[in-house]
Amino acid sequence: MPLQFFNTYSREIEEFGPRDATARRARMYTCGPTVYSRAHIGNFRAYIFEDLLQRHLELRGYNVDRVMNITDVEDKTIRGAREAGIPLQEFTEQFKAAFFEDAHMLRIKRADEYPAATDQRYIDRMIGMISALISKGLAYQADDKSVYFRINKFPDYGKLAHFDLTQLQSTGRVKHDEYDKEHIGDFALWKAWDEEDGNVKWDSPWGPGRPGWHIECSAMSMALLGDQIDIHCGGVDNIFPHHEAEIAQSEGVTGKKFVSYWLHCAHLLVDGQKMAKSLGNFYTVPDVLAKGYTGRELRYALLRVHYRVPLNFTWEGMNEARESLGRIDEWLARLRQIAKSRNVQRPTLNAQRPTTAFEDALDDDLNISAALGFLFESIRETNRAMDQNEMDAASASAWLEWWKRINSVLDLEAETEVTIPEEVAQLAQQRENARREKNWKRSDELRERISALGWEVRDTKDGSKLTRSTRNA
Ligand code: AMP
Ligand code: ZN
Repeated sequence: MPLQFFNTYSREIEEFGPRDATARRARMYTCGPTVYSRAHIGNFRAYIFEDLLQRHLELRGYNVDRVMNITDVEDKTIRGAREAGIPLQEFTEQFKAAFFEDAHMLRIKRADEYPAATDQRYIDRMIGMISALISKGLAYQADDKSVYFRINKFPDYGKLAHFDLTQLQSTGRVKHDEYDKEHIGDFALWKAWDEEDGNVKWDSPWGPGRPGWHIECSAMSMALLGDQIDIHCGGVDNIFPHHEAEIAQSEGVTGKKFVSYWLHCAHLLVDGQKMAKSLGNFYTVPDVLAKGYTGRELRYALLRVHYRVPLNFTWEGMNEARESLGRIDEWLARLRQIAKSRNVQRPTLNAQRPTTAFEDALDDDLNISAALGFLFESIRETNRAMDQNEMDAASASAWLEWWKRINSVLDLEAETEVTIPEEVAQLAQQRENARREKNWKRSDELRERISALGWEVRDTKDGSKLTRSTRNA
């Protein structure tokens, strides 16, 4: 199966092919955090989906250029700084730092660039784009001095969200400063300074003011990745108006197709509702860590469901994540132990051959649920083979190599490697033999000796499992 993704623009699954196919270069822009407060784990679901996407593209041999912007000037950051009585920069800096800390805890790969909207380089670029849009008749300055995009002049407006513009009518809930617009759907490119903005302002041909949120992403994306990019991502709430507006602005300026593939992830929910700051139903990464979970466990919990399926966050889900990771850790420990032994026992077919089913599943629009299903099926099969003493050292090494490959996408290995000491492994094998001979007395004695070495042996439906005993550890 070719690598394919669901494109929000066409609403179809499409085969992936970057513009620069010869260099296998994939240019990817991901909408980053608005730094007015600490990001919640719903935001991180989006960033983890983007991380999975980048890592899978890399596994498939693409060179990914990824940009994630930091929105450090818009209504909420300005309000926050004003309320805190500190300069905007100082206010946003703390949340930028928190974002990087949390992203690190969740093992999210760093983007190549994290442009900030307040960087003068990008402000200049935004002003240049707005001027170009005005000269093309695609934007106008209204009586309130702000500059707006004229959506009626851009026939494709609404194509991404599949919206019929004629349905966009005034709801009577328009802010007072937006009455000057020609059309209710026209959005601000440049917001004229007002007193509430304090000293947050930049000079422009239209007077002092600040950029609108949408133009920030168009300008930063084009400045760093070029006029035309391969992939643009975000959560589904970004589709309209944010990404719709980005298309109108960028294509309005260049006349060229802005983005080839639009990918959006479904929301993280709490009790069936979107996790959101405004609803007060959110947890941050430190909230989850404070409950005793690790970043690795949270990563797994946010990663394990297909990105286009809404995911309900529960503590039970966190416990399941812990259990699943425990199974992976134990499995790796057993494989490592056999890999370094001189076991030349003939392996069973299943134990012998890792296949490409994991990455093939990800080729299919990042079907992580199927990929993980395959991983756990493999764990079951190989554990069974190990129980039967039917796994030789070479096969164990092959499985470890396979894990290394898929873990370049998952990044779920324990921080400290769990290894089973040789002596414990031998005793466990002797116990397995005793059980097969139904020599329960010897089996119990061996369990005691294993226990004295700080390990616990449990008999499960998938065979016996060794874990470090909590009592003696
Ligand atoms: P914001 O900081 O609000 O601009 O959001 C940053 C990113 O998080 C955007 O891509 C949003 O679409 C995404 N996002 C916000 N809330 C959620 C949620 N509950 N689940 C998944 N993604 C979300
Ligand atoms: Zn954006």
